[in-house]
Amino acid sequence: MIRVGIIALQGGVAEHQHMVKLAAEKIKTQAEPVFVRKDNDLKNIDAIIVPGGESTTMGILAKRTGLLDKIKEIILDGTPTLGTCAGAILMAKKLLGIRGKQPMLRVMDVEVHRNYFGRQRESFEIDLNIDFLEGPPFRGIFIRAPAFTDFWNGAKSAASISVDGKKVDVVAIEESMIATSFHPELTGDTRIHEYLIKLAKK
Ligand code: GLN
Repeated sequence: MIRVGIIALQGGVAEHQHMVKLAAEKIKTQAEPVFVRKDNDLKNIDAIIVPGGESTTMGILAKRTGLLDKIKEIILDGTPTLGTCAGAILMAKKLLGIRGKQPMLRVMDVEVHRNYFGRQRESFEIDLNIDFLEGPPFRGIFIRAPAFTDFWNGAKSAASISVDGKKVDVVAIEESMIATSFHPELTGDTRIHEYLIKLAKK
């Protein structure tokens, strides 16, 4: 049984729970979502999801509950991890677009710009070609989304969109970490969750 730990302090937790169940069925794999609220919940976890929500609040709660360092340790140990939107922000080593400091996981070699798309484009949907997925484009749902503005070491972009003629990166991958600017859990498309479960199976 593959246990997918969803960091359940704040944000879109139930949606990821649902998607993990659907994805497991689709690829006929025994996988179950597990809510992570305290460090004991991290025992025997094979994959991690850091959901969307509000990255400052999530970071503060993770720090207060003592989870932040534990999650970081498990991710750096190689546990496959998916961060979506605010989750992607928490995973980045460099953060632009904030005032002051906020507690972060800082595990991926990327720079992320919080609320990159600004007020004009607070929320939008667009079809994406994601390097590691097969099949039709993936529908990206962006809600006050960040964008990836730099990559180094092993990190690279796996999808980008064009904004006013400029290429903007919206998926980052590095080893077994995946970070998306958008919300794959809000579509009916389970391919990114399937990919995470497959990584955990290896
Ligand atoms: N803008 C939010 C943040 O900075 C992220 C939004 C989201 O997760 N949908 O944390």
